[in-house]
Amino acid sequence: MIENLEENEKTLLRLQALELLTREGEVLCWAELHPRQMERILKEYQELLKKLPTSWRERFQRLATNKKQMPMVPEQRCVCQNCRMTISLPLMKRMRAKQLEPICPNCGHFLKLDPAQLPPKY
Ligand SMILES: [Zn+2]
Repeated sequence: MIENLEENEKTLLRLQALELLTREGEVLCWAELHPRQMERILKEYQELLKKLPTSWRERFQRLATNKKQMPMVPEQRCVCQNCRMTISLPLMKRMRAKQLEPICPNCGHFLKLDPAQLPPKY
């Protein structure tokens, strides 16, 4: 059983929201933010980043900062919504049982597992 999985997922989602907020041309532009707001966001961002396990932090930074992608994407019917690959049921079962980190074996994005746990559509 992987420890602190929910906690890490929550941290990751919040980081992702902050990342989008600060990304130029996205939801908000840096120029529209008050300097104090910017400072607060950056501080929270750094603190959240520190809370993640090293491997998660590195993966997050690689995807979000370097590649400007969404690090965490939804899983639906065992399909990764980033690369559209179907993940095998045994793998999905292990992820749902928290024995395996929820990471797409194909594209390496974090997966937000669908609570409905629907089987794949063939
Ligand atoms: Zn994928």
